[in-house]
Amino acid sequence: MKELNCPTCPGRRAPRQLLCPTCWHTLPGATRNRLTIRDPRTPMRRQQLRAALADKTPLPLVRVSR
Ligand SMILES: [Zn+2]
Repeated sequence: MKELNCPTCPGRRAPRQLLCPTCWHTLPGATRNRLTIRDPRTPMRRQQLRAALADKTPLPLVRVSR
């Protein structure tokens, strides 16, 4: 399967994942849970993650809305 660069480290991620496994597990559990929910607010949560990464927010502090 094709792999892509992780947005926050030199690691690689699968196309369907937002981050590499290492970075993903560095996120708070509540944030991970919310990012795996599929509903009309999914794009908004992903945008919040991208904005937090762009602001260099440490991964353990990244939060997204419900
Ligand atoms: Zn990573």
